Amino acid sequence: LTGTEPVEDHQITVCVRKRPLNKKELNKKEVDVISVPTKDQMIVHEPKNKVDLTKYLENQKFRFDYAFDDSCTNEIVYKYTAKPLVATIFEGGMATCFAYGQTGSGKTHTMGGDFQGKTQDCKKGIYAMAARDVFTYLRAPKYKPLNLIVSASFFEIYSGKVFDLLADKAKLRVLEDGKQQVQIVGLTEKVVDNVDEVLKLIQHGNAARTSGQTSANSNSSRSHAVFQIVVRSPGMHRVHGKFSLIDLAGNERGADTSSANRQTRMESAEINKSLLALKECIRALGMKGNNHLPFRVSKLTQVLRDSFIGDKSRTCMIAMISPAMASCEHSLNTLRYADRVKEL
Ligand code: ADP
Ligand code: MG
Repeated sequence: LTGTEPVEDHQITVCVRKRPLNKKELNKKEVDVISVPTKDQMIVHEPKNKVDLTKYLENQKFRFDYAFDDSCTNEIVYKYTAKPLVATIFEGGMATCFAYGQTGSGKTHTMGGDFQGKTQDCKKGIYAMAARDVFTYLRAPKYKPLNLIVSASFFEIYSGKVFDLLADKAKLRVLEDGKQQVQIVGLTEKVVDNVDEVLKLIQHGNAARTSGQTSANSNSSRSHAVFQIVVRSPGMHRVHGKFSLIDLAGNERGADTSSANRQTRMESAEINKSLLALKECIRALGMKGNNHLPFRVSKLTQVLRDSFIGDKSRTCMIAMISPAMASCEHSLNTLRYADRVKEL
């Protein structure tokens, strides 16, 4: 550990990331309507017409803990978002990092890396970078004597149901005991000894996630993917800390409630519900008396319940922004949501 990592100690960090215009958008002569003038500001320059039809730009400014422009790499984004949370799980806390945004805005690119079928593809994502640093901490003099055991799981929440990405998408039940402890029954939790073993699991899960889907009808845009690194005490196997890294469903899918297809409508309602509940649960982090939170409203918040409780829990949200003018409305929705997640 170099001692140069960001030293912020907020329970909630909210960041935004703008991706570059892609080839397809450039070919369509799409205009970039997003600017990042400082390290913590993002501005949407929305083209509008006056009543006399003269055109003007309406500039809407948002401020966050960090704003990443399109020149930032995953490594830089990681450094200011998930990396400072690795210490949390060694100190006995729960950490979560969410990628939020519309489909195509860069959530999976940021979290899972650009997966094309090879293990190497995952290396550049936040899942892999967090795993790398977990092993660095594990072997650091301060934490080595704890003899913690590291394991990983990877699952998907689709239409309110949990599927194990490390076990052929087996459908799993979620149980809550009398003490409100939530358990995903039968979830695969693989003990891992080094980064390469974790990379294999990420690759396996990524492949399972994208199997059998076409880009036109992408299930992954309608599901939340949850990658978890758990550290347990030896002997008792008690959970010492847990890092959940989440690639959320596309937020535009939540608005799709007028579809002619009943299945799509139900999925959309579920996504909408879970993203609203998530916002409330994150906002309540660190507030006292937060036992009336809408954890049970959605599977997502229910399975992450223990991560929203306790003084030691830390959360980071990265809101992803597509820069194209065509995405203006979605970008504004994303920025407003992120704005409301911020600590009061
Ligand atoms: P999402 O998961 O939010 O639907 P993706 O991560 O799949 O979006 O990104 C959509 C496309 O944009 C992918 O081809 C991805 O490689 C590309 N992309 C996303 N973010 C970036 C970035 N910061 N730099 C370069 N390409 C990116
Ligand atoms: Mg994706």
